[in-house]
Amino acid sequence: MPLNNPVKEWESIGVSACLIGIASAYDGKSRCHIDTIRSLRGKLVVPVCPEVQGGLSTPRIPAEIVFGLDQVHTQTGLDVTNAYHLGSDNVLKTLQQAGCERAILKDGSPACGSLTIYDGCFTRTKISGKGIATRRLLDAKITVCSE
Ligand code: SF4
Repeated sequence: MPLNNPVKEWESIGVSACLIGIASAYDGKSRCHIDTIRSLRGKLVVPVCPEVQGGLSTPRIPAEIVFGLDQVHTQTGLDVTNAYHLGSDNVLKTLQQAGCERAILKDGSPACGSLTIYDGCFTRTKISGKGIATRRLLDAKITVCSE
């Protein structure tokens, strides 16, 4: 069912759920980001989490995009690529139904990263790259920026 914006003059904007205090990160915590929260004043906020919306539990084993491949594996070697694609599709639907033309997503995540992702070796090493959900939203012409 479409999510109608009750206040037409307010912009609807997507945001990574963890950035606004929802404990959706792999370790069961949030990634609360005060500047992001402040920037949402006067907007209709649409929280999304591609990992949770793809059916992954919280907490969960951390996952990274395998370097050079369009696959996401957990630290224990489980292929969770399908969950990331499902979650990305669900996030896109949520944002489109809410009329969002842009989203603020948590950088570094294999789902939400827009500038950087981890290199796939689980050594906390970041490289330039985009997460699976970010790519999906950009393909659908939704503007994505990091926190
Ligand atoms: S998938 Fe995105 S919204 Fe969900 S916990 Fe990770 S960074 Fe936050």
